[in-house]
Amino acid sequence: MASLTRFDHFIDGAGVPPASGEYLPSEDPFTGEVWAEVARGNAADAERAVEAASRAFESGPWPALTPSERGRLLWKLGDVITANADRLAAVEQRDNGKLAAEVVAQVRYMADYFRYYAGLADKVQSSVIPTDKKGVFAYTRYEAKGVVAIITPWNSPLTLTSWKLAPALAAGCTAVVKPSEFTSGSMVEFARLFEQAGFPKGVVNVVTGLGPEVGEALVLHPKVPHIGFTGGTAAGKKIYEMAARNLKTVTLELGGKSPNIVFDDADLDQAVKGVVSGIFAASGQSCQAGSRLLVQESIHDKFIARLLEFMRGVKLGDPRQADTQVGPIATRPQFEKIMGYIEIAQREGARCVLGGRSRPDLGAGQFVEPTILTGVRNDMRIAQEEVFGPVLAVIPFKDEADAIRIGNDTLFGLAAAVWTRDLRRAMLMTDKLKAGTVWVNNYRATSFTSPFGGYKQSGIGRESGTETIKEYLDTKCVWMSSDLDVPNPFIRR
Ligand code: NAD
Repeated sequence: MASLTRFDHFIDGAGVPPASGEYLPSEDPFTGEVWAEVARGNAADAERAVEAASRAFESGPWPALTPSERGRLLWKLGDVITANADRLAAVEQRDNGKLAAEVVAQVRYMADYFRYYAGLADKVQSSVIPTDKKGVFAYTRYEAKGVVAIITPWNSPLTLTSWKLAPALAAGCTAVVKPSEFTSGSMVEFARLFEQAGFPKGVVNVVTGLGPEVGEALVLHPKVPHIGFTGGTAAGKKIYEMAARNLKTVTLELGGKSPNIVFDDADLDQAVKGVVSGIFAASGQSCQAGSRLLVQESIHDKFIARLLEFMRGVKLGDPRQADTQVGPIATRPQFEKIMGYIEIAQREGARCVLGGRSRPDLGAGQFVEPTILTGVRNDMRIAQEEVFGPVLAVIPFKDEADAIRIGNDTLFGLAAAVWTRDLRRAMLMTDKLKAGTVWVNNYRATSFTSPFGGYKQSGIGRESGTETIKEYLDTKCVWMSSDLDVPNPFIRR
């Protein structure tokens, strides 16, 4: 048997074996083959990594850099990512089974996140405060919070890490990253590249392993003031509770049940493509998946017919083949969860008009056919709970008011889309939909330039865009007296 690739932790600029001596297997979701093993971290590993990050934050070359110098390192890192993108993407793709073409594009694009925040590093301006007190000069300073813990899921590991790491480093923080136990390899490989860009040791560290064993130790660590988390709402709530115990700040990017709303005046051929990209790209394993299709009653049957026509002949298979359109599900538990939801939906009365089955004949059998369920009511579990797979719940609506009511009637508020040619209607919908992102006549666009995050239980805080850097900074107000005397000490000025 070929020997497995081994991924140790990466702490203080070097590979570090786990304190426990134990490793977790990493599987290729298409072949089912265990191809790598990943350090199974625990609290001792978390401690070692936080100490390294804390030392790098407090002393040595990193805190001595000017913001412009940090920006130069980040820009260089962008170039290092570009040079290594295909290799990083190959590791990530092997772990999460997404289409190779999509993962390569994602990793190449990631370089631009670092370049964007490279430019922002020396543009965070504080202010002189025009106060109402005489004889004082007051101004603000923005100061890096310190060691940031970054915890990420398996669907887009490097991209979702970059959304946090790029602004955190631009702000002057250091970091300990805990990738998903299912997809840790790409982050360990990435961390090894920071030295090439000139980053001092200890600025970026990685510990791998399970959430409760090593993730919680990071969240609870007294030297970690901020946690950047992307993942499911259940784990997000737990992390928020743990962070609250010591009044830490958090950025939480959580789940969704986003409505993709098609009105009768839309360009239906474009809307079909938008609906497909919303739910079947990445096999629906996307937080922003448009998993509820709200379609106006008057065009319901016509639109479903066009959707089915478009999906005919979609190719499932090896995600490394260029003509494959739908790949495997990333993990076995996720595969089982999706199949369970398809069954629940049909028991609740939904009708399966496309797919609905697994494909044991493909690869290691971890495939779910693109599935469309009609006759869904918004109070069914399939309309309320996140499936995170290629399963579309179709819900008819009457008019604008009905679409707004149904669209907003979930615990989530990550994203929404509207398909219409009517400008007034588009503006009404963008006003009324309670979601962090609303797309009009497109789906799935995100960029380093634009804030992304959730309303309601889809999260707290925003990532990307200029404001995000403030998530990693504390504001200090400095009061300098120009008075010769301290005035009457018994009376507050
Ligand atoms: P998950 O919540 O199970 O795990 C995410 C990460 O948290 C993993 O690294 C895991 O090890 C860690 N973790 C789990 N429990 C923990 C704990 N108690 N303490 C500390 N760390 C813990 O999510 P997943 O299954 O890996 O990913 C799928 C979920 O991620 C979906 O719900 C999806 O919506 C969400 N997601 C959200 C976004 C977004 O930007 N809003 C993007 C991608 C994925």
